Amino acid sequence: MAQHRNKSIDTSSSKHHAVALAIHGGASNIKLAELSEEQQQIYKQTLSTSLDSGYAILSRGGTAEEAVVASILILENSPFFNAGKGSVFTNDSTIEMDAAIMSGKNLKAGAICGVQTIKNPITAAFQVMKHSKFLLLSGAGAEKFAREQGCEMESPEYFKTEFRWKQFMKLKNSDSVQLDNDSKSYVQPIDESKTEKYGTVGCVAIDQYGNIAAGTSTGGIVNKKYNRIGDSPIIGAGTYANNETCAISCTGKGEDFMRLVVAHDISCLMEYKHFSLSKAMEEVIQVKLKAHHGRGGCIGIDKHGNIYQSFTTTAMFRGMIDRKGNKQVAIFK
Ligand code: ASP
Repeated sequence: MAQHRNKSIDTSSSKHHAVALAIHGGASNIKLAELSEEQQQIYKQTLSTSLDSGYAILSRGGTAEEAVVASILILENSPFFNAGKGSVFTNDSTIEMDAAIMSGKNLKAGAICGVQTIKNPITAAFQVMKHSKFLLLSGAGAEKFAREQGCEMESPEYFKTEFRWKQFMKLKNSDSVQLDNDSKSYVQPIDESKTEKYGTVGCVAIDQYGNIAAGTSTGGIVNKKYNRIGDSPIIGAGTYANNETCAISCTGKGEDFMRLVVAHDISCLMEYKHFSLSKAMEEVIQVKLKAHHGRGGCIGIDKHGNIYQSFTTTAMFRGMIDRKGNKQVAIFK
């Protein structure tokens, strides 16, 4: 881990930095032809709403962490992304979610994993960061803490969607069950069992005080077993923020991101080798991750508010509002 030599930034300063944020809704090996216009519109609209929500917080002087929570909340509440409602099923037919948030200002972080009843895991991670002396809480203990902190709870049934159930059944019995995602009667989320979409969501932001933050939330990977935890709640692997360097949120096969400690590795190249954000991310994602046959990508923001993203898949659902206020949402390269 990088040494804690951050200078705390005075939030009462009258000098305002330009605010900016970026989000992702998962990396995917989907091809353009496999995604209808209607599906693309729905995904892009939800990404756009998520950007607006975080940007509104930043515009009225909120912190980067608050913006990260607000943006991720929209994606967690959407059944189209693999986080909160719409999370994928485990092999035991349950849903187990992970989330983390980190502040670049003071290297404080909070994370939860394997939770089944917290409506918005990112809010619980934020409470851990603010109010717990621990950094990473799991399972029933994390849920108890979230309840004590007044987080909104839901029954496990709330998170389960018919689409995810069908997806899980297809994967579990993949030899005998045919994929069936061509119904046009309603807009289907993308079938991740077919396209290898890692539908995790994440956000990075810089606030007007010049502080950066990162957050990530996920249901993990379909058909996971043995209370498997991925990279998303692991600080340094799937989520990392440091005002000296960058804020990063990753998506992809968590095992690859954990063994390469991707988010922190990008930060290290910036800190020790003085790489730019783009150069550091290209090195870690396009060279290192690829060399290890890793699949996925990440978004990042540096201390100047520069935004960059990189992925080894054919697509990554993403969006940004840059320092000039320009907004973009995109899915393919
Ligand atoms: N990284 C997540 C995990 O391995 C999955 C994803 O990005 O969709 O749990």
